[in-house]
Amino acid sequence: MPFNSLGLSATLVQSIQKLGYKQPYPIQKKAIPSILKKKDVLGIAKTGSGKTASYVLPILQNLKGQTDIKDRNINVLVLVPTRELAVQVQEVFRQFSLDLPYPVRSLAVFGGASINPQMKAMYKVNVLVATPGRLLDLVNSNALQLSKVTTLVLDEADKLLNLGFKKELDEILDLLPKKRQNLLFSATLSPKVQNIESVLLNKPEIIKIEEKEEETGLINQVGYFVSDEKKGPLLRYLIKTNNMQQVLVFASSVYKVNNIVDKLKKNGIQAKAIHGKKSQGTRTDTLEQFKAKHLQVLVTTDLLARGIDIEFLPFVVNYELPRSPKDFVHRIGRTGRAENQGEAITFVTPEDQHHFRVIQKKMKQWVTMIDSEKLNLQ
Ligand code: AMP
Repeated sequence: MPFNSLGLSATLVQSIQKLGYKQPYPIQKKAIPSILKKKDVLGIAKTGSGKTASYVLPILQNLKGQTDIKDRNINVLVLVPTRELAVQVQEVFRQFSLDLPYPVRSLAVFGGASINPQMKAMYKVNVLVATPGRLLDLVNSNALQLSKVTTLVLDEADKLLNLGFKKELDEILDLLPKKRQNLLFSATLSPKVQNIESVLLNKPEIIKIEEKEEETGLINQVGYFVSDEKKGPLLRYLIKTNNMQQVLVFASSVYKVNNIVDKLKKNGIQAKAIHGKKSQGTRTDTLEQFKAKHLQVLVTTDLLARGIDIEFLPFVVNYELPRSPKDFVHRIGRTGRAENQGEAITFVTPEDQHHFRVIQKKMKQWVTMIDSEKLNLQ
């Protein structure tokens, strides 16, 4: 089923082709026609499934004829749990709006960055992508009104609720008009999500994308037995021998992340860190550089393990194991996205061996192990 049979306009189909999407992903096949019909949708799908375009495209089409709004009103509100996701989703709206015959303005707002520029930018915005706390700050400063919203999207609803945004969500829902379209996307259908789903959605179209379609199938995995002291040399060796131009490295603490970056830089390898102690501006800039392939190595904590989409990321390295197998799957899920093969490399110290076996068992996938002692790391 090609994109042009889903009911999208010729302009949008052209933009899709420009981006190189050939066929709609399963979630897009199911969600686009329903959203175009103004139905509520519950999408159980993870990042990597193509869920963003599955709502961005029909929302943009439905905006036709409605984009001329008063200064502080918005048409569409997309709530997301993190700043990074806000930036990423807004970018998809921006890209697909470029060639539309009607102007659609989208904006991302999030905490951890100064509110003033965001207040100034809040002028005739059609699509606002926001984290809940910052959205309420803006409403309370009279920078925007929610009474004209026709479509609400909750993206990564499970994460929104897990991060404790329930109170903010309830406040926001009270400010929205009762009659509106609701789209809810979540990686899992947890009891918390079911709770919100039952109050939010009206006879929704339920779309569940099975795990298999997006799990670890496209990822080549390899593990290295290595001692703690040899991890630095092993990482440098792998970067060089595999000619890695874009690699995401995960470590467990801010201290360790900084340490890895320092060592790589001392050895002439271009590297930067993203973690919770970096300012929002720096985090956004660094991620943009990395996505644009202007930065070779990005080292991070599990902050980036979920939700962030980097197109064609070829390599992920687990410098240290995460505690939970779920986090492991999220981490390595940063590579092997869509139709592209990726490689996930995991460092396993003698102390990690038991834990790594537990992770593999949970993943139902056994990883080929290489003994780094046998490599010439110099
Ligand atoms: P998402 O799950 O929305 O984060 O999307 C995951 C990745 O898949 C993004 O890099 C999209 O650009 C890409 N993508 C989405 N839909 C398609 C498609 N139909 N064909 C190829 N790539 C796609």
